[in-house]
Order: sequence, then C-alpha cells, then structure tokens
Amino acid sequence: MSPVKSHKRELFYGLIRIHVLLHASHEPIFGLAMMEELAHHGYRIGPGTLYPLLHGMESSGLLRTLPGQAGGRARRLYRITPAGREALRKARVKVDELHHELHEKRPRRIGIGRASGSDQRES
Ligand SMILES: [Zn+2]
Repeated sequence: MSPVKSHKRELFYGLIRIHVLLHASHEPIFGLAMMEELAHHGYRIGPGTLYPLLHGMESSGLLRTLPGQAGGRARRLYRITPAGREALRKARVKVDELHHELHEKRPRRIGIGRASGSDQRES
C-alpha cells in the first residue's frame, strides 16, 4: 500500500473505532454485522482490517469478548467495557467540537493571521 493510502486509512480509523464503540454500547456486536454497518456509513473495511482493529480495542480494554450466537451461528461477540463507555463519552464531546468547527465558515485562525491575545470569535 502506498504511504498516502495508508495515511488516509489512519485518518479514518479513529472514526471507525468510535463507531464500533457506539454500536457496542447499545448491544453486543460481531465482526460481520459491524462490517455491514460501516459499509452503510460509507466505510469499505474488510475482515483483514476490522478484526485486528477489534482485537486491538479488546487489548486496550475498550471492548471485551464473549462467545455467543447470532444468525444461528456461533460468533465472537464484543461488548463495551466501562472504560469503553468512558472513552465514548469523551469522544462524543470531541467529535461535537470538531463537527462544530468543520461547519463554521472560517475556523479560528492560528497561523500568521491570528489575532494576538484575544479570542477571534469574540472580535
Ligand atoms: Zn452506525
């Protein structure tokens, strides 16, 4: 994979993780259904990418697995942990903040044109 492509992917991994946490906070999830859900939101992510991502979230304590059944098959189900809920709560605040700035006509200026010592939104 080219460096540009892999950087683009990394840009979206955080969003995908938040999405996983959101769904896992409502019900136990499993890989295939999560892949379909992500596709519904426009993320094309295969098992070779999603499963390591889920395992990573499990090792960092955001998710825990339990054996279960879905669609008449044995599946590895993922549930959110208390740490995952806390991470989701914080992510929601940050995403709201980002969303707000993404939709502002002009983000706060932080380069050479920045207003010194005052908050531009107030000027
Ligand atoms: Zn969704």
